[in-house]
Formats: sequence, C-alpha cells, structure tokens
Amino acid sequence: MQKQETIQPLKQGQLQIHSQNILPIIKKWLYSEKDIFVRELVSNACDAIQKVTILQSRGEITNTEERRIDITQDAQAKTLTFSDTGIGMTAAETEKYLAQIAFSGAEEFIKAYQAQDPFIGHFGLGFYSAYMVADRVQVNTRSHQGDETGVVWTSDGISGYEICAAPKEKPGTDVVLYVSDENEEYLDEKRLKAILQRNCSFLPYPIYLNGQRINEHEPLWLKNPSECTKEEYLAFFKALYPFEAEPLFWVHIRVDYPFQLRGILYFPSLNRETNIKKNQVKLFCNRVFVSDDCKDILPEYLSILQGAIDSPDIPLNVSRSYLQVDKNVRQLSDHIVKKVADALCTLYKQDRTHFFECWKDCELIVKFGILHDEKFYAKVKEILVWKTLSQKWLTTEEYIEMHRSKAEGVVFYTTSPQVNDLTKLYAARDIEIVEALGYLDHAVISFLERQLKNVRFTRIDAAENAHILDASKEKTILDESGRTEAAKIADFIRTTLQKPGCDTITIDAKSLASDTIPAVLILSEEGRRFREYLQHQGKDAPSSFPISSTFIANTNSPLINAIYALRLEQPELASDLVQKVYALTRLSQHEMSASEIGDFTKECTQMFEKLTSLILKK
Ligand code: ADP
Repeated sequence: MQKQETIQPLKQGQLQIHSQNILPIIKKWLYSEKDIFVRELVSNACDAIQKVTILQSRGEITNTEERRIDITQDAQAKTLTFSDTGIGMTAAETEKYLAQIAFSGAEEFIKAYQAQDPFIGHFGLGFYSAYMVADRVQVNTRSHQGDETGVVWTSDGISGYEICAAPKEKPGTDVVLYVSDENEEYLDEKRLKAILQRNCSFLPYPIYLNGQRINEHEPLWLKNPSECTKEEYLAFFKALYPFEAEPLFWVHIRVDYPFQLRGILYFPSLNRETNIKKNQVKLFCNRVFVSDDCKDILPEYLSILQGAIDSPDIPLNVSRSYLQVDKNVRQLSDHIVKKVADALCTLYKQDRTHFFECWKDCELIVKFGILHDEKFYAKVKEILVWKTLSQKWLTTEEYIEMHRSKAEGVVFYTTSPQVNDLTKLYAARDIEIVEALGYLDHAVISFLERQLKNVRFTRIDAAENAHILDASKEKTILDESGRTEAAKIADFIRTTLQKPGCDTITIDAKSLASDTIPAVLILSEEGRRFREYLQHQGKDAPSSFPISSTFIANTNSPLINAIYALRLEQPELASDLVQKVYALTRLSQHEMSASEIGDFTKECTQMFEKLTSLILKK
C-alpha cells in the first residue's frame, strides 16, 4: 500500500442498494462461514491476473510483472491487504464493478433470503464478503489499460463510497480491509494461513502470506490422466488428506462436453475400527475450493469416497433445492457414477488379485450402490463377487454354472465364517458355500433373487435334504412289521422331543453324508428371513421365534445308534441324551439364545454327573 495524499474526491456516490439493511443480515447468515471472504478476494485477484494473461497472449498489453498475489497482515494498523498484479481497474471501472456489480451479489442474496430459499452456504458474495470482517474497505488500483495512474476507492459498505485519484506505482490492485475489532482473529498469521491452505492450495498463481508461499501443489486433476503416475496420484492424495491411510485405487474423471468436469476420486482403505467418514470429496470451481459437501453431486453410496471434483458448471449461487433438480448436476452425477463403475470393472478385469484385496473395503460401496440404484447394478453386476468358505471368488452366475448338475439355480450361503459340522456335509458333496457375512447381504440376496429370475439363495441350514444326505447308506431294510430302521429311530426321537402343542418341528432320521455329525436342524428359509426382518425392524423376535423346521437325526451316527440302543435299558437316560443332541445341534447352528445356553450348560453338568456315577456303579 502506498501512502495516500489527501486529494479531492473524483467522485462520491451512493451504493446502489440499501446496504444498511443488508449487512446485518449477511453478517448473521454468514457468521459461521465468515472465512469465505478470503477465498472470494483471492479468487478475484486470480481472475484479475488471468485477464492480464489473456490480454498479453493476444498481444494487447506488454507486461513483465511477476504474476502473484500477496496477502499481508498488519496487526498494528489492523489491516489485511490482498495485493495482486492483475488487470487493475480504471476509475470508471472501479465505480462500476465495485459499487454496482459487487453489491448486486449482495442484492441477489437478499432476494433469496427473503424468499426463504434454503441457503447453499456459499453465496457468491464476492467482493462484498469483505464487509463481514471489515468496517471499511479501501481498494487501491491501477489499470493495465489506459493512461490512468491509479485510484483509491473507499467505502464502509453502508453509507456510500468515495473515489480519489491516487497514484499507484505498478498496475494491479490492493484491497485493504480495516478489520473490525470483533474480527481480529484474521490478523493472526496461523489462522489466516490455515484458511488460505484450505481454500487456495490449488490456485494457478503463486500466493504468498506475509512473504511465505502458500500454494505449492498443482491440481493433479487438471493433468491428462495418461500422463499421471501412481506416485503422483498418491502424493496428491497425501496433499489433500495428510493423515489418512493410502487409498486403494482411484478414478480420474475428465469431461469436456456437455459439461466440464475434472476430478480424481479415491477409494479409501476403510479402517473398520474408526467411524467411516462421509462427504469428504472436495468440490472446486476453477481450482478454488468451494465445499466439502458434494452431497448432491455424489450419490449417497459414493459419499465415502475421497478426492476432488472441479467443475465450473456447478451452479453454486443457487439454493440446494434447485441443485437437486438441476440438469447439469444430474448429468454430472450420472457421469461420476459411470466412471466409478467403470473403474471397478477395469480393476476386476485387469488385476483380479488386487481387486479381491480391495473388495473388503469397496464391497460396502458396491452393495449400497446396487441397492440404491438399479442403473449402478447394471454396470457392476459382473463384478459382484462372493467369497466361498474354501476361499474361492465367484459371481452368482459363476456359482450357478459350477453347480448346475448338483443344485440347479441354488446358491448355498452361510452367515457365519466358521467351518462346522454342517459345512462339512457340503464339502463332502463338493458344494461351495458363499459367505454372506455383511450386514447388507440379506438385502443384496433378496435383490438378486428379484433380478435373476431363476436363482434362489438358500442358507446351508435350510437346504433340501438331498444335498447333505448319503442315500447309499440309507437304512432301508424292513423289519417284520414293514418298518425301516430309520423310521423307527425317527419315531423314538419324535416321542422324546415332540411336546404337545409344539408342532413347528418335524422329526426325521436319515443318512447324512458324514457319520461324525449326530443331527442337523433344517430351518425354513422364508421363516428365518422373516424372523431376521423382524429383528432388523427392532421387533421383539428372539432366536426362539417359531420357524418351521426339521430335525434330522443321522442314522449313520454312532452316537444316535448308541442312544437308540440304550432306550431299552435306560429309557430315561436315552431320552435325556436325545434332548442334549437336539440342544447341541441348535447350539452349533447359532439357534440358541444366551439364556438358553446358560441352562444348557447346567443341564450338561448334571448329565455328566449322572453318567460318571453310572459308570462308577458298574
Ligand atoms: P464477481 O467476481 O463474481 O464478478 P465480485 O463482487 O467479487 O463479483 O467482484 C465484482 C467485480 O469487481 C469483478 O467482476 C471484477 O471486475 C472487479 N474486481 C474485483 N476484484 C478485483 C481485482 N482484485 N482486480 C480487478 N478487478 C476486480
């Protein structure tokens, strides 16, 4: 800033709008977002420098001045100065641009405010926003064009303005803010530096705060994707999120028509210990940071992505309700979704090992996406994979194809990752079991059953018997009364287990594919899903919620045969043992509630006491 001599004003004027009424409203509204004045003034400076660059490239002006923006703080004078070597303004331009145009942004704001339109939070108040922190603003400017040697424009933003001739050494503009007492925080270097780094890190011209360079990062999103290296993508991510773990992979977006869009979206590595952070994609408008809130541009299911999106076509100065219906924004959003889906499909095709490594982190995004957006499903269905208990990766179609001869159109799944008696029955038959462990999997399964007409998902404990039986060992020999051994075992167990009024359990005895398993409990798939639905709805549906089920005792099991034989000598003990086998089966299939487990342990202890005393008596 140069020292001003007292000169007769060239011009005094009234501001175009009734700013007495406006300022308090704007101050109130923008209170939490006051920092934006920094962004607004720095981007005005950038625009001004860009204009010089354009005129220079056309040969309309010759200028050797370094293109830079300097922000200086003077704590004593309580001023904050934004200086640029840009195009500058003539006296007439100063009057026109600052008194009329700059304040018209404020006028628009008031209209929106009066119409009670929801407020996007970043109204383009431009130059006027300086008055949120300053009692008075003085603009000392000299145009690159014309012969004028400079003017100074001063206004308190309320009563009017004054323009005086005031020689300025070099073309460009100094905007001096006389910071009001309640906003002295902006005279603190650290505070201002943080704001500048957040908002202005990717601007095209060098920005200095008190002589120290602020913006050292090139916005990688502007570079041609084919020229970007992996190291650059990772370094850029680090610049955006210094404390975050390395991302898994990324999508570089570049569109010129019918809208302009540049961006890099990163798939974060999700640390399940910490909360998943949402809405982290930074929105830029021509390199100027605008918002951390990309809600309307990214669909909900992509909100855990990170990165930057830059588009001059996002209307920032309008209300959110408008943004949601805006055609540009919708197209932009559709395009981003498509690019994300493409990136996933490409990774799947080109580097399957890495894809599977990433799956645990991105499956949530994919599954949310599928459930929320059928168009997204159409794009990613070929990469919707399931991991099997035997560590294979299969799509639903691949699974169906693989098991065509064994189980037409059925996908067997488990909701627990452990190998147990039941899973061993499937392994014995060479049937894969897919893991559906995630909390979205129930919904994904129902969704796929609707989409893929002839496919049914069946949890392993709801399987049709044929898949777990070994018919070759079936006890089919008839006794003199015409009954098979299996039927007699079933009768015995039935009389022991079935209590009057309890008819949801069917009892059977069959030859299972393994002889180490005493019994299995087969639950109706529909009934179980309904119970899960009720549980999900927060309804009181304990695991004892009645589901029609079949208890199959294994006629191959030495234990079952021994109990059956024992019934003649020790009927009470035999029936007690049947009860225990039934309870154990429920326990191993996670069908027992916590309180039942307590009772069961007590009963087992009593039974062991009984058994040991029996042995000792002999
Ligand atoms: P916008 O930048 O959205 O047009 P502003 O209120 O920020 O609105 O500024 C109004 C006008 O004032 C700008 O269009 C520009 O012509 C002029 N202006 C503001 N700051 C500068 C500057 N640093 N150098 C040159 N012209 C400026």
